[in-house]
Amino acid sequence: MQHLEEKLEALIKTHYPLAEPGDEAVDKYLRIIKEDYHVDLAKTLFATSICSDDANFSADFSKVLSRPFVMGGLGGLPYTGYTGMVAYAHHIPDNGHAFIFYGPHIGINKDGTLGKMRREGQSHDTNSCGALMLALERLTTDEDEEIYIPFSSEIDYQQTLLERSLMPFKYEIVTSAFPKKEITDITYNIIHKLVHKCLGMAKEEFHCNKIVLLGGIIINTDPEYQDYIEIKNFEVLETCDIHGIKPADAHKLQAFKDL
Ligand SMILES: [Zn+2]
Repeated sequence: MQHLEEKLEALIKTHYPLAEPGDEAVDKYLRIIKEDYHVDLAKTLFATSICSDDANFSADFSKVLSRPFVMGGLGGLPYTGYTGMVAYAHHIPDNGHAFIFYGPHIGINKDGTLGKMRREGQSHDTNSCGALMLALERLTTDEDEEIYIPFSSEIDYQQTLLERSLMPFKYEIVTSAFPKKEITDITYNIIHKLVHKCLGMAKEEFHCNKIVLLGGIIINTDPEYQDYIEIKNFEVLETCDIHGIKPADAHKLQAFKDL
């Protein structure tokens, strides 16, 4: 078992050299913000922009930080957008702090195959992230040489928006030596930018002390192994540090102020 665990870790690190066990990362970053940045965890409102997939309990800060505000959906994009970020800002405890954890996820099975994992209670592998692997298959399948263009669908809008966000990066993804890793890395960049953009637009609505941003890629493994995470961004900001972006003028509405 020990040998298999080491073998899996070595496989993970060939793709994600900075990956660390999820539980260790959670403990480490909570300790850093508490001890080095004097963030009172009891007065910190947690938010996530990660995929809806039930596999993502591993990097679970909610076991320590209560009441996550859920910004994410399929693939991990912050679908709640600017309005969601304003609502989140308004819900932070008085004199409290914000902590946003964001990023996509990818499976790796015991053979080291990326994009696959075996789930609790199942004997076969499924895709992880399922939404990203679906997007990848659509991007790489040119039926009758027609270019796939995701069209708006109100019954599948998260997947549609995810695929539309990835379309400009189609060339990088399909020509990569590891397309499943590439689409995940690109999704991380998209989520990172969107979280910062929404934060910049909502700057004036944050009246808290510290804003902690932690971004990374969650690496799901088969149930008998621990999950990993590769942290790619860690920032602790004051409100004045946020790069402000002027939003559309919705501020006069009472309902906006009361979000
Ligand atoms: Zn997913």
